[in-house]
Amino acid sequence: MPFALDLGTVHTLIIAASLVVSIGALAAARSYPSHVRFGLHLWGISAALQALTYLLLTLRGMVPDGLSIVVANTVSTLSGALAYAAIRALHQRRIPKDQITALVIAALGAYSLTMGADMISRRIIIVSVFKLIIYGLVIHELLRAARERDRRIHDLTIGTYAIAALVFLVRLIDAARPSTPEWEPLTPDVVQQLTFLTVFLTTFAASMLYVLMAGQEVNSQLYRLATFDGLTGIYNRRAFEQLARKELSRGNRSGALPALIIFDIDDFKGINDRLGHVTGDQVLREVIDSIQSALRQQDILGRWGGDEFCALLPETSLETARAVAERLRERVVQTPREHHGQRLQLTVSAGLAAAVRHDGSFTALVGRAGQALHEAKRSGRNRTCVAPQAEPPLKPD
Ligand code: GH3
Ligand code: MG
Repeated sequence: MPFALDLGTVHTLIIAASLVVSIGALAAARSYPSHVRFGLHLWGISAALQALTYLLLTLRGMVPDGLSIVVANTVSTLSGALAYAAIRALHQRRIPKDQITALVIAALGAYSLTMGADMISRRIIIVSVFKLIIYGLVIHELLRAARERDRRIHDLTIGTYAIAALVFLVRLIDAARPSTPEWEPLTPDVVQQLTFLTVFLTTFAASMLYVLMAGQEVNSQLYRLATFDGLTGIYNRRAFEQLARKELSRGNRSGALPALIIFDIDDFKGINDRLGHVTGDQVLREVIDSIQSALRQQDILGRWGGDEFCALLPETSLETARAVAERLRERVVQTPREHHGQRLQLTVSAGLAAAVRHDGSFTALVGRAGQALHEAKRSGRNRTCVAPQAEPPLKPD
């Protein structure tokens, strides 16, 4: 054969690769948030168990068969199950301990029945079946999680496991052929070479992809924290400002300008004082929900701070924006509320300003809407006031 791998060497490489991965995953885990850290711990333990599996397989003949056959292959099943658990942990999904225990006990039972030297084909079939079960579970979990995420890394991981599954399927079919001679475990036929080369490459590829998925989880968590308000779930001030500035400059170019409404709950301090801050938080969320459900999909809602929040309405004239603000205000008033057995009549005041062409200043727009809000409060609350249309700045000749 022009291309022949020495399987003993490949086994040694798998042990070395698994140990490197294990040490790396366990060492890196500390700097990640808890569910990712837990996943990396499981991944590290899984890799260490794979190293143990291949060490025991390599020692066949030098240690009792119970160790090099039954323990080695059962540990291999446990290693695969822990890799599956690690992927679930990353996605913050429950670890199915009962199923994992059942799988490992089944593996222990099955391998105990294949100790004899004449049982190699049967053992390979069982190994392949357990591998296919675990790869199937992993692929199913990755497919489910990919739907909710930027799926590129997940797709690559699915591809990696699918190739590994295919190789073990080939191995299963090969071992099930009646003509297969009973060979030694380290006989370097094509299927054996393909199998162990795949295990070696999968160890690296899957681990690299696992770390990338862990990074993706952390990034999306940081993105959520940096973008959304923790209490209400709408954009925080920084993200709102960024989106609003973008919309303003887009409107300036196209001529279809946005309008800005700032809402402030009336006498919110009184609600906190009478019903407590926890109920105050609940009321705040309810008001935001009422407003959000009445906005269009393209409108941007953000918490400005305290009980103030802003809606930016893209491509909206002052008249339309006034109608929207009134509709939202009325919706808040008309939504029946009850807390601690007390009926709660809630109102909001709104300040509205329309953007002016060639004055893309977000600060000026907020300033004008803020003044209108102040006017709404001053003139009795539970109303919408509109900022006077600003004159477009004089263009230099
Ligand atoms: P006004 O009608 O003039 O708006 O009166 P107000 O009582 O609502 O006064 P203001 O808007 O100035 O005060 C807002 C209050 O909202 C002050 C603060 O105690 C409360 N508050 C701010 N953020 C939160 C929050 O996250 N949760 C709760 N429960 N209360 C908050
Ligand atoms: Mg208020």
